[in-house]
Amino acid sequence: MRIAIIGAGFSGLAAAWNLLNLKNQVTVFDLFSEGASAIAAGLLHPYVGEEGRRSLFATEAMQKTAELLHIATRSLREDVCREGIIRIAQNEKQRKAYKNHCVIFKDVIDLGKDRFLVKSGKTVFCKRYLQGMRLAIAEKGGQCIAEKILDLEQLKNFDQIVVAAGASIRDFPEFEQLKLKFIKGQVLTCEIPSDLQIERSLVGKGYIATSHKPEICHVGATYECHDLTGTVDLLHTQNLLFTKASSFYPAIWKLKPIDCSSAIRVMRQGHYLPIVTKISSRVWVITAMGSRGLLYHAYFGEKLAQVIEGTITPPFQELMH
Ligand SMILES: Cc1cc2nc3c(=O)[nH]c(=O)nc-3n(C[C@H](O)[C@H](O)[C@H](O)COP(=O)(O)OP(=O)(O)OC[C@H]3O[C@@H](n4cnc5c(N)ncnc54)[C@H](O)[C@@H]3O)c2cc1C
Repeated sequence: MRIAIIGAGFSGLAAAWNLLNLKNQVTVFDLFSEGASAIAAGLLHPYVGEEGRRSLFATEAMQKTAELLHIATRSLREDVCREGIIRIAQNEKQRKAYKNHCVIFKDVIDLGKDRFLVKSGKTVFCKRYLQGMRLAIAEKGGQCIAEKILDLEQLKNFDQIVVAAGASIRDFPEFEQLKLKFIKGQVLTCEIPSDLQIERSLVGKGYIATSHKPEICHVGATYECHDLTGTVDLLHTQNLLFTKASSFYPAIWKLKPIDCSSAIRVMRQGHYLPIVTKISSRVWVITAMGSRGLLYHAYFGEKLAQVIEGTITPPFQELMH
């Protein structure tokens, strides 16, 4: 089949890779400028969310993401992630949840003072990872074209179309019936002074994520921000994010912000699982990765490819809305 994919973020590239593996001809369209994946902090672990619970399908999803990270690393010939994340329990509920994970899943180690090392966690260097995946896709015969698709009619020569357009899904009237919500996220890029060292990403009330450069980190938090425009106010954001992060990392005020980026997270209303579904005879959508883009894109990208190919088996079908 000839398949067009709109969007080269985590979802679009995972779908592309898996569709290529099933011997399809795949073309990915993106202007490579406006997605959430390129600015994501890169935190990948199974315990996303306020309560620190293990996310649904976490084991399979972590495994699938690890496979794609390996593929991107191989094509790029550079590391695209770093192992281990430290989660700081902020309340009794989280403390209990993490102590439980230490016993049940054994991928968490209690470091004391409310600090828990999530051994299975990783910090992904998102821009590098996306670059590595684009290379891997090209090596496998897929095409990535720098073009913005304004109307699905432009893709009438393709047998199937996958829309993985992130927040820009709002530009396509075909998807109005999906129950989505949109939340802006902001992330500060900061210089770490030479007298400080941040070896592993820290996640508490907000997060400090390491990068591929030891002197640079990203500071962010998930919070409701009703202004959905691309505007960012560095000083205001610094105040907000540093205040949150100071609860688990008091030295935060020594970091020097050098840039601030923003993008929109797309979430499903009422549940945190993404949406993977068929919209019409040849149009599919993969969206609503929320804050779990890195956890879920590879797993659901593979499911989408299988369902397009017709090889899907229940119970996955029940998850499609
Ligand atoms: C500040 C911030 C920090 C985050 N941190 C993390 C994190 O640490 N860990 C984590 O797991 N998740 C994180 N997330 C969430 C994560 O970024 C998203 O879940 C994920 O990026 C969604 O991927 P996607 O491919 O579905 O969408 P996107 O990444 O938004 O990709 C959509 C792509 O489609 C392209 N596109 C849109 N319209 C068109 C069109 N008409 N034609 C062609 N191309 C088009 C866009 O340019 C874009 O590249 C964060 C999000 C934000 C905003």
